[in-house]
Amino acid sequence: MPLRSRAVELILREGISDVRELSERLDVPPEELERILAGVPGLSIGDGEVRPEVRLRGYVEVRGTRPILLTAPHAQGPGADVFTGEIAWWVAQISGCYALIGTVSRKSRLPGEDRPADYNREWARDTPFRRRISELIEEHGIRFIVDLHGMESDPVRPEIDVGALGGEAAQGELVSKIVERLEECGFDVGFEQEFCGGDILEYHCDGERVQGIQLELSDELRELDEYRGILAVLVVVNTLLGEL
Ligand SMILES: [Zn+2]
Repeated sequence: MPLRSRAVELILREGISDVRELSERLDVPPEELERILAGVPGLSIGDGEVRPEVRLRGYVEVRGTRPILLTAPHAQGPGADVFTGEIAWWVAQISGCYALIGTVSRKSRLPGEDRPADYNREWARDTPFRRRISELIEEHGIRFIVDLHGMESDPVRPEIDVGALGGEAAQGELVSKIVERLEECGFDVGFEQEFCGGDILEYHCDGERVQGIQLELSDELRELDEYRGILAVLVVVNTLLGEL
């Protein structure tokens, strides 16, 4: 059994947080153990202690190195924006951006709440998903949020509808560049044709220190074996990486 998973089992099962005690139980030097546990999500290590925060949180996170966060709040069915979570995962892996992918259906209920667990609504600001967005901004220097959603394909709709709260959430010049680059890559793009953005942009983006856009991707970009949804988001991220 690998040492890493054995150590986490011991931490969760017996609540041991002292690195020295753990290292004795596992028969490995403390420095070695700290090194092995350093990259484990949900564990923080320091001053000879391990603090576990391995819990179900209603999202999975991809740790990045770039100041861009991809959010997919509606990735979980029923009522999912199908494949938006997987698109966020791909682009985060490829580009080094952060990603937060919701694992709770927007049709389920928040604990103690009568309202649906829709992370893109005002009443969901105090959920772990939304608090994590704030933490990533404050502690990991996120400067741009790309909020991913899905819309039904329709002859009168573009393939991608870009929203920025009427220009409040992101600088116009940057949004124009994003739209231009998507068009150069062959996508049919609209700006706020129907969708201008939700509470994630409203609450976390001020349009200066932290900017953000919403991308509504049509069904046709989000089908099994399709790559164009991934390409579209990658083009947006590459444009941002050249500008931020
Ligand atoms: Zn959505």
